[in-house]
Amino acid sequence: MKTFLFFYTCFFFAKPLIASTSYDLESYEVKLTPFFDKKELEVDLKITFQVTESNNKFIFPIEEVTIKSVDIESQKFNWIIKSKKMILSLKNQIKKGERLTVNILYTGKPKGIVFSNSVVFADYDSCKWLLCNDDSGDKFYADFYIKAPVGWKVIANGKEIEFKNGFYRWGAERSFPGYLFGFVIGKLEKEERQNLSKSFFIFGNNLSQNQLNKIFQKTFSATKFFKDKSGIDLPTNTYTQVILPGYIAQEKSTFSLLGLKYLDPMFSDPTEDWLIVHELAHQWWGNSIICANWDHFWLNEGLTTFMVASYKKHQWGESQYEREISLAKRRYQIAIDNNFDVPLTYSGTYPSLKIKRAIVYSKGFLFLEALKQYMGDVDFWAGIKEYSNEYKDKTVTSKNFQIKMQKMSDKKLEGIFNDWVY
Ligand SMILES: [Zn+2]
Repeated sequence: MKTFLFFYTCFFFAKPLIASTSYDLESYEVKLTPFFDKKELEVDLKITFQVTESNNKFIFPIEEVTIKSVDIESQKFNWIIKSKKMILSLKNQIKKGERLTVNILYTGKPKGIVFSNSVVFADYDSCKWLLCNDDSGDKFYADFYIKAPVGWKVIANGKEIEFKNGFYRWGAERSFPGYLFGFVIGKLEKEERQNLSKSFFIFGNNLSQNQLNKIFQKTFSATKFFKDKSGIDLPTNTYTQVILPGYIAQEKSTFSLLGLKYLDPMFSDPTEDWLIVHELAHQWWGNSIICANWDHFWLNEGLTTFMVASYKKHQWGESQYEREISLAKRRYQIAIDNNFDVPLTYSGTYPSLKIKRAIVYSKGFLFLEALKQYMGDVDFWAGIKEYSNEYKDKTVTSKNFQIKMQKMSDKKLEGIFNDWVY
């Protein structure tokens, strides 16, 4: 029997913690020490940001941690925690364009960090443990220094650079918004294979050769499909999938967290492949081409959901595509039934996560299907290529997407965009 997969979890949360800030994050140095006995994390952070409005107050979201120390070089300041925010008040005004480096040490078990006896990892809500500005358009560089028990594996964004003084250092050459940073420290085994001039890794526990083969083959097949459809290579040189127990489906900058509860059905029924395909698609749409702010989040998730359905059609035929459409229609109906059929570009608050998903994932997918029908297959896919190439490693708005699709169509697209998107 087919499993009814309702939960496309991925990345979500209700509303940005801070609507606007007066800084632009530039770089992070993150030193992480896990304490398995207490199930706590010590985080030693060095944050450098550029001031975007002359100011002497800077605010960072913070939850469920104890601040041990705060230091700002050559500045007099004080700090308080209020309404889940840390407010830094400096004696002197910092002028627009100047940079500030803040060192913060804290401990705790913040939201988004999952501990067990054999693994600790960051699931979602990065800004609750990384003290970052929760803005998808604010990209920054980050190096992680991570302590792990002897013999355990460490995975973070980018690649492993060195092992020094008991810490594994990881870093990426590209900048990413906060929600795409994460890490895994676990008693895991590592497998590596090459395909399409890229390195693919799987980290897991007690996976059979047969299971590993199935995951790798699915990953290679979907990578080729997305490369063909976008006209661009997998945007990173390596792609890592970390297989963990439970229900997890989370994209990160250069890796994904895949829960066995979602993955298992694929081992007996190969058509149940959405998890691998969905998180991989984010390497293009979501992690490389990133929504400029959360109002345009459907460009991450709606496009990815559409790409998964398109891959299924390519791999398994029309009936699987029809199944994805009927699932999306059923989910979208939840928003309609709750009188909450908002446009795809939406800046308000959603009443529930279910309704948010009904719009961002399902309505997003159904709009792209409607747009494909209206433009015709050839022009639509030419538009997707045009958009993907133009906005690789950039942030995007719905308007950017519309302009690129319009460029490839003789028909006026304003009406259909107005009906669905604005
Ligand atoms: Zn997703």
